[in-house]
Amino acid sequence: MMAGASVKVAVRVRPFNSREIGRNAKCVIQMQGNSTCISNPKQPKDGAKNFTFDYSYWSHTTTDDPSFASQRQVYKDIGEEMLLHAFEGYNVCIFAYGQTGAGKSYTMMGKQEPGQEGIIPQLCEELFQRTGENTDPDLTYSVEVSYMEIYCERVRDLLNPKSQGTLRVREHPILGPYVEDLSKLAVTGFTDIRDLMDAGNKARTVAATNMNETSSRSHAVFTIVFTQKRRDQMTSLDTEKVSKISLVDLAGSERADSSGAKGTRLKEGANINKSLTTLGKVISALAEMQSSKKRKSDFIPYRDSVLTWLLKENLGGNSRTAMIAALSPADINYEETLSTLRYADRAK
Ligand code: ADP
Repeated sequence: MMAGASVKVAVRVRPFNSREIGRNAKCVIQMQGNSTCISNPKQPKDGAKNFTFDYSYWSHTTTDDPSFASQRQVYKDIGEEMLLHAFEGYNVCIFAYGQTGAGKSYTMMGKQEPGQEGIIPQLCEELFQRTGENTDPDLTYSVEVSYMEIYCERVRDLLNPKSQGTLRVREHPILGPYVEDLSKLAVTGFTDIRDLMDAGNKARTVAATNMNETSSRSHAVFTIVFTQKRRDQMTSLDTEKVSKISLVDLAGSERADSSGAKGTRLKEGANINKSLTTLGKVISALAEMQSSKKRKSDFIPYRDSVLTWLLKENLGGNSRTAMIAALSPADINYEETLSTLRYADRAK
């Protein structure tokens, strides 16, 4: 097995929304090849900063802009690569990071319209397409999914409408951290997954409304456990290759202090930031470990947040990780967008 993590980092700018158009916002992002430049609206002349990522995805910021990355393109570059790693037996993880409204769920889920589907539905569809093409009688596949939400360091099951409370996070001596009693449902086709995802997304919205929150303050973790079982003709023994594919729509990265948060909101903000900060630390520690060939035992702070603890097996060791940072193009979001770019830059 290969040790060490490898993180692919992409940024994606969305088109202007109606609020930004209404406020006559200017575009502060420029992209060329895989580099992204952000200019400071207060210092248009010399306030520009440049970043380079594995991919920089442009959108239509004006209606006649031809050079943009489609949902298909983003899937092909990132989703498909991660799916192929899963077939090879790696655990994989794709995160969407960014300010609320910057395009995380559009990138991960998208819309149920032709050409608008995000990474998750496209990846699931291709997973079943590939397994369906298998003609080897000694090779069988099974797919199970779970869908959870992490809010204020607590875990909720999105696929079990009866589970109201929060679930316990435990540690298995061999398999590592896991969520006790989290539903894991066997699926046999893409439509099964889509139905479960829809139900999970509804549960997420309903729970958020009941608790007087919005789903933008929680992390949604959709996990596919993909098992490939091969039977040896000679010995009749089975060998199993199990890959966990985690697809994560992170909570909005906007800082609590910018919205004048108090009380619960402030605590909530601190918790969200804790997970996002820890995730950033874990990913950059892993990236550093990879580039400097440091020893595996070097300290990685997985335990500092529920999110990173549960994703431990998908981040370090035998795994492949990709992060897509979603950006607003507008000058009015300059500070948040710059902090998103810095976060993405540290993950490389
Ligand atoms: P987030 O999940 O980060 O809060 P959303 O994904 O909900 O943000 O995006 C906010 C809005 O912008 C949605 O209406 C979404 O359809 C639209 N949007 C986001 N990214 C893109 C994109 N790349 N191309 C077209 N529309 C987008």
